[in-house]
Amino acid sequence: MSAINIEKCPLCGSPDLKKVFDVVDHFSSGESFPVCDCRSCGFRFTNNFPSEDLIGKYYDSPDYISHSDSDKGIANKLYHLTRRYMLAEKAKLVSCYAGGEPGRLLDVGCGTGYFLQTAKEKGFTVTGIEKNERARMHAITRFGLDVKDDKSFFDIADGSFNVVTLWHVLEHLEHLNESIKKVRDILTPDGIAVMALPNHQGYDARFYQTSWAAYDVPRHLWHFSANAIEKMLNKHRLKIMDIRPMPLDAFYISLLSEKYRDSNTLVRYGRAFMVGMAGYFCSLRNVEESSSLIYIVKKN
Ligand SMILES: [Zn+2]
Repeated sequence: MSAINIEKCPLCGSPDLKKVFDVVDHFSSGESFPVCDCRSCGFRFTNNFPSEDLIGKYYDSPDYISHSDSDKGIANKLYHLTRRYMLAEKAKLVSCYAGGEPGRLLDVGCGTGYFLQTAKEKGFTVTGIEKNERARMHAITRFGLDVKDDKSFFDIADGSFNVVTLWHVLEHLEHLNESIKKVRDILTPDGIAVMALPNHQGYDARFYQTSWAAYDVPRHLWHFSANAIEKMLNKHRLKIMDIRPMPLDAFYISLLSEKYRDSNTLVRYGRAFMVGMAGYFCSLRNVEESSSLIYIVKKN
């Protein structure tokens, strides 16, 4: 296996890195991957992860619900129920921050196209980028959407989109700095980027530690906090306009984390509910307690 070994912090360039702990890939391979922190800026990331051309098989599971329409099992049913609610919320949020008439919207990592379709119904002219062929074909055939493969992302002309959305996508992209730079380039001067990211400093992440399902190694390469993403965006002449919590994510992530801990069913649902509720109430006081955060970003 060809692994990417990171020797310098992708955020600040420091070679002073330390391993925090190993995290097991419970979802797909059962392999362990080291999660490291940069001693200089605190940026957290997965190390020794498979390169872009080999990582595909780590996504290749019928359980990967971001890319399927399966509604088997309670966790999947819960996911689909919350997805419907979240799609409407996401579209509302994007319309609100974009202001004015709906313009051109690009969803990077659009999966099976549900958000794009919702945005299209709101009046946006939509385009998607999706690496997974099965998901891409679903978006094209079911909704008739304009969805291109991931290679096309870097061919997009500068200033083409008023809105670029990345819903839980940036943490998957091997070429992190290049991807953020490209997002900046393709935005119009007053365009907005909307990025949803897991937050490893949230309540549920601290509770579950190495079992926290949103570490999701080796698919998640970069583990952001509000502080780290702010530094990363500033480096690329982007600034955060607002941060919004995604409190519902804590319930789903906690349920998955309990599954990874192999808790019995009663404990699993009981504790996931308690952790989800605790995280939710903490996030009302401090947004950075939220399991995931949505960043509204503009050019500097
Ligand atoms: Zn660093």
